[in-house]
Amino acid sequence: MFQFSNNLCAVVTGGSRGIGKEIACRLAEENIKVYALASSKESLKNIENITNLYPIQCDISSRDSINDFFQIIEEENQSIDILVNNAGIHRDNILLRMSEKDWMDVIDINLHAPFHLMKHALKGMIKKNFGRIINISSISGTDGNKGQSNYAASKGGLIALTKSLAKEVGKRNILVNCIAPGVIETDMISHFSETIKKSYFERIPLNKFGQPSDIANIVHFLCSDEASYITGQTFYIDGGMSLN
Ligand code: NAP
Repeated sequence: MFQFSNNLCAVVTGGSRGIGKEIACRLAEENIKVYALASSKESLKNIENITNLYPIQCDISSRDSINDFFQIIEEENQSIDILVNNAGIHRDNILLRMSEKDWMDVIDINLHAPFHLMKHALKGMIKKNFGRIINISSISGTDGNKGQSNYAASKGGLIALTKSLAKEVGKRNILVNCIAPGVIETDMISHFSETIKKSYFERIPLNKFGQPSDIANIVHFLCSDEASYITGQTFYIDGGMSLN
């Protein structure tokens, strides 16, 4: 349906489960070589033996781990054309009870890691005069959310980072965009009680949660040739939840 350049190479963080797995598989189907990163060997078993998909254990909270990954890329004579900063965690609590560790862990994985990954990936993109960076934020990043000040701050930061970088590298034909999902059915929301689910449904005009494929669809489009005039944007994929 959409057109893609030849011989593309992508990195999808958190590519072993949920939204990231769906994105990684969708890009791999387009004949793109996809490195799917996750911190645990266990979760990477979900994506074994998929054509064009290369599972890599890399804890993105560690700079050394990120450096080691890019060392592999260099040794394989690859450079990254598409970077999807998808991995994210939450450690929810009201701010008064939030530990500094929970604050830092969330900021480290959700915001610091994309910064480091972008810096690495940009070098090859600038040389090629081509690149696509897609950051998975959240509607919490613009709306805020009670009990999620660390998560919301990290996701809001990611939107601002996206816009700033889009302005810096537009002339190099590197497009940087953001997706802000609403509530998507993955492990991340598996702890929701029926009461919480019901309260969310009431806030979502489409009256249902989204699926990982809803996010993969737009990432797929943003990586295609047809999206070549779109940069610095945040796309809300939330069943209308952010309208409230
Ligand atoms: P998920 O099901 O919990 O999956 C998270 C992925 O990130 C897993 O592959 C996980 O693998 C990986 N990951 C976690 N920590 C990592 C680390 N330190 N290093 C490398 N990989 C790591 O999450 P999801 O629901 O698919 O969410 C994906 C993204 O969408 C996140 O950024 C999330 O904030 C955002 N989002 C989700 C929702 C939602 O409702 N689900 C809504 C808005 C935004 P390992 O555990 O093996 O490391």
